[in-house]
Amino acid sequence: MAKKKKSILVDPEQRACAICGRRIDLEWHHVMHGIANRKIADKYGLALWLCTPCHGNLHSSGEGTGKDRALMAFAQREFEKKYDHALWFSLFGKNYFADEELTLAPYCLAGGF
Ligand SMILES: [Zn+2]
Ligand SMILES: [Zn+2]
Repeated sequence: MAKKKKSILVDPEQRACAICGRRIDLEWHHVMHGIANRKIADKYGLALWLCTPCHGNLHSSGEGTGKDRALMAFAQREFEKKYDHALWFSLFGKNYFADEELTLAPYCLAGGF
């Protein structure tokens, strides 16, 4: 048996692509990229199913933008429901769903002046 999947974003037993809903050719996608972030994503369950084409597109052309960015915003929202914003920020150092706020008041959000 493969290692049990952990996710706070979806029910891992409900196997369907988070982008298009396809139910075949699924791959487990870590919403937060990079080696360090993958470990954190595993620990906190920031992962979900994507089908092979959606997954391929996301990593080949879409990293950090569009749907990839939307998945990160979704992950942050769910994470903050379960834990809190301070923990998110200490782990990832970045806001994904509060871009307007980040643009307007970066110093406030970073805890500075
Ligand atoms: Zn898909
Ligand atoms: Zn992936």
